[in-house]
Amino acid sequence: MPKAKIPAAMGRIYERVWVCMRCNAKLRTDSRRVLTGSVKCRRCGYKGLRQKSKERKV
Ligand SMILES: [Zn+2]
Repeated sequence: MPKAKIPAAMGRIYERVWVCMRCNAKLRTDSRRVLTGSVKCRRCGYKGLRQKSKERKV
């Protein structure tokens, strides 16, 4: 198996990782679905999700 494809794949995976702002559970889903409000946390049902990779509010 060629290892050259791994970095690109990793980047795409992280774009799809979201974190619940209530219980910090990680979710993998399309950002479109999150923005349309059709996705909620599996663990607690909360709809407040933030994207893990990009956002930095300090
Ligand atoms: Zn949650």
